[in-house]
Formats: sequence, C-alpha cells, structure tokens
Amino acid sequence: MQELKDFIRDIPDFPKPGIVFKDISPMLKNPSALKKTIDFMAEKLTSLKPDVVLGIESRGFIFGGALAVATAKGFLPARKPGKLPYKTDQVSYDLEYGSNCLELHIDAVEPGQRVVIVDDLLATGGTASACAELIRRQKGIVAGHLFVVELSFLNGRTKLDPDPVYSILDY
Ligand code: AMP
Repeated sequence: MQELKDFIRDIPDFPKPGIVFKDISPMLKNPSALKKTIDFMAEKLTSLKPDVVLGIESRGFIFGGALAVATAKGFLPARKPGKLPYKTDQVSYDLEYGSNCLELHIDAVEPGQRVVIVDDLLATGGTASACAELIRRQKGIVAGHLFVVELSFLNGRTKLDPDPVYSILDY
C-alpha cells in the first residue's frame, strides 16, 4: 500500500499558511492507484459489516460513493449547511484549519443501522466525530471509520474512540 503515497501530493500553505494540504488528485486520476485504494478500502469496509456508507462532503463523496457501489450498500451524504433539501439535523465542530458545520437528513439513518463513515483524510478527528454524533442522535450504530490518509501526529483517532478506525496511508 505504501506505493500509493506516490499519488498523494503535498501542497504547502493551502488553504492557509502553515497547513500542508494532502492532495489526492494524482491518486484520483490514476486508474490503477484509484482501484487499489477502493479495493483495499472495500475489504476493510466489508469487515465492519455495515448496512450503509456515509460520505463526508466533498472528497468523502468520491470514496464513499465508490465504496457503496463496490460493496452493494446505500450511501448517505453528510453535507455543508444549506445543501440538503429535506429537514436536517446539524452539528458544528473545529477543523485543523478553522471551524465547520455538517448536516444530515433527519431520516437518513434507521434505528440500529450500522453506518461506516468515509472520508479522504483524518486530521484532528473533529469532522468524523461530528458525523458519528449525527448518526448516534438518529439511534444508528457507528460501525467504524475509513480514511485514505491519516495524519497520525494529530491524534485524531483518539477523538473517535472506541469506534474502529482504518486508514491506508499514515503520515
Ligand atoms: P479533521 O476534522 O481535523 O479530522 O479534518 C478532516 C477533514 O478536513 C477532511 O474532510 C479532510 O478532507 C480535511 N483536511 C484536514 N486537514 C487536511 C490536510 N492537511 N490535507 C487535506 N485535507 C485536510
């Protein structure tokens, strides 16, 4: 899997000075790197026995959408405020660079459903734990979290305790 790091590009000082942005665009445009990534994540996803996949706007839609199709599960979009058309529940949280808010349709999760949360990158864990909170409010079960990249020096994983967390590429 380590060879997939060749397809992650560092962009210094984006979107703010001091942040090194991990750009997954080279991975997305390379067919074999993208397939390897999705195949590996699909295996992990299946081991978590989910009923449904939740993807976080916007890069989580790419991986979450592909994984939902690859594993024949449904897909739930967690979106930035004002984007979802039906009634929503929302939660605010802190980011590595700023703060944010995410929404989920109020009828997204069935009580007792196992949901796996998918995003491109785990940094401080604020985004993923906000989604976990939205799922739990709807009486769903957070089956686990799946990321392509983990910035483990930020310890985001501890914020997601005790839910299982998998990432492919660690920095
Ligand atoms: P966090 O909530 O701190 O775990 O941040 C994770 C979210 O912010 C994900 O949706 C990432 O796409 C994005 N993100 C945070 N830091 C970075 C980074 N250094 N490079 C790329 N994306 C990032």
